[in-house]
Amino acid sequence: MKIAFLGLGIMGRPMAANLVKAGHEVSVWNRSARQHIEGATTAVSPADAARDADIVWMSVADTAAVERLIFSSDGVEQSLREGMLIVDSSTISPSATVRFARRVAERGVQWIDAPVTGSKIGAENGQLTFIVGGPAETVEALDPLFKAMGKNVIRVGDVGKGQAAKIAMNLQIALIYEGFAEGLTLATKLGVEPSKMIELVQATMIRSGVTDYKAPFVLRRDYSPNFPLRLMHKDIRIMLESAKEVRVKLPALETVEEIYDLATEEGYADLDYAATLALLEKWAGLGGQPK
Ligand code: NAP
Repeated sequence: MKIAFLGLGIMGRPMAANLVKAGHEVSVWNRSARQHIEGATTAVSPADAARDADIVWMSVADTAAVERLIFSSDGVEQSLREGMLIVDSSTISPSATVRFARRVAERGVQWIDAPVTGSKIGAENGQLTFIVGGPAETVEALDPLFKAMGKNVIRVGDVGKGQAAKIAMNLQIALIYEGFAEGLTLATKLGVEPSKMIELVQATMIRSGVTDYKAPFVLRRDYSPNFPLRLMHKDIRIMLESAKEVRVKLPALETVEEIYDLATEEGYADLDYAATLALLEKWAGLGGQPK
């Protein structure tokens, strides 16, 4: 299978490397030219990467980046052939996804939205979960590629529904983590050791995948980016825009967005989203700030 892989960030780089490892012919492209992956060819533009490809797979920051990759003057659209597939593992707007899919469908090309969960460690270990929107038979045909990069494929419906489910899931991650961070801050201020509080969290019903993943980093105050705060902030904006489109009110998320606005002003955008804890600690007069 010939695959063009576009976007070699925290997630895209290990995903593309795992496709190479599984024996596929991969052509990669990244906006900043320095990127190269052992065993893959490096293209000069998205159109160049897609030229002979059966499948174009993307993992880039946001909706604008996906639009640029596909529809700009050196974009994938220039190389589209009937029967090609575009698979988007970025997290972007569900309604924009449907718009993009309609546009490429006019050229006989199918769009599958396949955002992921599992973060940096999941991408590196080939343990991602794909949250997929698109026709069932096309999703099934992609199974060997999903399995080269991940462990689970959950098809939630037609095109756009993968993105819809992904942002609804990240909404919960943002709120669960904020609850954890606020609980930890209050406990610390009241004199409970953070390590004891985390031991309690892990031993009781409030334990979650979020706290399992984040606790070791939080204990070390290691805010190096696994999922950068700027990307969760972007996802929160997509959640609120999507909610507005369908007239849903999300009051808790609106408050969390303000925390992300302030964390960004504080200079935390490129740290992990776990660094919102540092902001709460600062407001509480606790501890040092991340570098
Ligand atoms: P990242 O490390 O910031 O990488 C972003 C990628 O997008 C880079 O290749 C970047 O290119 C490219 N990019 C950004 N703006 C662009 C533009 N205008 N045109 C072309 N390329 C552009 O992000 P990541 O963590 O890999 O995340 C990728 C996607 O997966 C995002 O949608 C994110 O929300 C989602 N996601 C991330 C995680 C996670 O834990 N990290 C988990 C699940 C889902 P440059 O190298 O040139 O900047």
